[in-house]
Amino acid sequence: MIKHIFFDLDRTLWDFEKNSHTTLLQLIKDFKLIEKGIDTADNFIKKYKIHNEELWQLYREDKIKKEELRGKRFQLALAEYDIDDSELAEQFGLAYIQQSPIKTALFPYTHEVLLYLKKKYSLHIITNGFEEVQHIKLASSDLAQYFDVIVTSEQVGVKKPNAKIFEFALEQAKAKPDECIMIGDDFPVDVLGAEQIGMQGVYFNPNKLAHKHSVVHEIFCLSELMALL
Ligand SMILES: [Mg+2]
Repeated sequence: MIKHIFFDLDRTLWDFEKNSHTTLLQLIKDFKLIEKGIDTADNFIKKYKIHNEELWQLYREDKIKKEELRGKRFQLALAEYDIDDSELAEQFGLAYIQQSPIKTALFPYTHEVLLYLKKKYSLHIITNGFEEVQHIKLASSDLAQYFDVIVTSEQVGVKKPNAKIFEFALEQAKAKPDECIMIGDDFPVDVLGAEQIGMQGVYFNPNKLAHKHSVVHEIFCLSELMALL
């Protein structure tokens, strides 16, 4: 008997890629990066993404702090164009952190699905994002209204797939693992993370990525949840 549904936030409900891209395009204009020596906005974003991913991996492994991640990813992207300006990188990084979370692009059917599920289940969030940023995203996108418990990795001190964050969320929601489903786009983090403590997992795979995971439930669009639950 399922009573609780837990959602991941970034890339599951909140369209991280779209919101990030819109923000970067705007900031490249605002900070006049073309005049400062980058070739095209798209190429700069490509380079940024490579550095961002590498630094995020280090952050996930607790090898760097978030303050370091925020400026350094832009510093390294600018350095590829021989722009050595740590103040610019710092300001750009700060503006990105301020503007990206107020962007509101969501995956199709987010509100419809949450409205539908809210009538039948308690809904909650478990996210690996930063505490202050994730709450801004939820408020700006009008999502906070649906969720009873919102747990961030920063608040718990460990990230998914660490069992502790799932256990903390269950405790907050006063839920037992076998009454719960977790839905997320990152298979090892969201689905295996949930399954290891006895919750069911639903793999959200909107880009239809090929994979070899054996999954009980895989969906390509959030609207499929209305047939499943
Ligand atoms: Mg995610």
